[in-house]
Amino acid sequence: MLDEDRKSVDQCVRCGACRSVCPAFQESGWESTGTRGRIMILKGLDSCLSPDPQILDSLNSCTTCALCTEICPAGINPPHLIESGRRQMVLKGAMTGKQKSLAGNILSSGNTFGLSDDRLSWLTDKRLILKKAEYAYFVGCMNSYRYTETAARTFSFLQRFGATILPAEKCCGSPLMRMGFDAQKLVQENSRQIKEIGASTVITGCAGCHTTLKNSYPEDFEVKSVSEFLVEHLSELDLRKLDFSVSYHDPCHLGRHSRIYDQPRKLIEAVCNLEEMKTSRESARCCGGGGGVRYGYKDLSLRMAKRRLSEVPEGVDYIVTSCPLCIRNLRDAGAGEVKVIDLVDLLAMALP
Ligand code: SF4
Ligand code: SF4
Repeated sequence: MLDEDRKSVDQCVRCGACRSVCPAFQESGWESTGTRGRIMILKGLDSCLSPDPQILDSLNSCTTCALCTEICPAGINPPHLIESGRRQMVLKGAMTGKQKSLAGNILSSGNTFGLSDDRLSWLTDKRLILKKAEYAYFVGCMNSYRYTETAARTFSFLQRFGATILPAEKCCGSPLMRMGFDAQKLVQENSRQIKEIGASTVITGCAGCHTTLKNSYPEDFEVKSVSEFLVEHLSELDLRKLDFSVSYHDPCHLGRHSRIYDQPRKLIEAVCNLEEMKTSRESARCCGGGGGVRYGYKDLSLRMAKRRLSEVPEGVDYIVTSCPLCIRNLRDAGAGEVKVIDLVDLLAMALP
């Protein structure tokens, strides 16, 4: 363990405040699946504890939502420590089968699905890929392969301002890094393409890509979420008012990790009525999908999503969010009659 991590682990006073917010703990009820238990396990691993399947499950069932970081009176950052612990385990060759298979998919194909299909199948006119541009849209694996209409709509908005896309984008590396693996090859490959384009700003519609591009890529360009970019151009978008109400789900990696709370709300309020969920902004409940949990622990992940759905105010027409992983998890958990859509899909409805 790094000295600074050891110092942080030692700062935990075992008060248990994190138990009141940890979504994984709330579903499982096991101390080992909550923040405090994970911190104690990290402490044990640093001395005499050997990794076994239960320990790996403990570390890997954290969604990295950072709800505990908000509440911890000792001021420590548990998801940072947990990711660090995962890295130590992977370096020792200790990993779950799911970790191994997801990492294998990404490293062999450049995307989280292990697909060899065209990543740009949604782009009908390839001439729209410009060699040089000030702005580059980073699409991400989910929108490239699963929510291609959202990818096309996002690009259509961004293209108005001269944006292009990477000709051969690869996974940003987020799932690898969250699970404790090295993603330098992907970082280097995407960075090379961004440099060739000459983009000063990279714009992304995925919360996971946003955190990763912002914190784990060379600081050669600015990183903006789609909502940050579009809100700056709101008056140029020519959006009309829609006669309905929506609720907004803050993705953890856009909200707590990057403090992007106001921009999506400003865009929503420009086109329709916004009704907040029971918890929002820094205290917004996690959808349960992040940190590799959706892939590794689907049942637990969907239970967390169900609990999030119980916070949606009655009578709203849509649940809007800004992360394809949140969309998938909330939809799969049975959002019922209320459809879960991307913020860009909402804005597209408001086009004249
Ligand atoms: S809230 Fe912070 S100090 Fe308290 S048990 Fe959790 S991690 Fe430790
Ligand atoms: S980051 Fe979220 S899931 Fe992980 S320990 Fe903290 S509260 Fe629990």
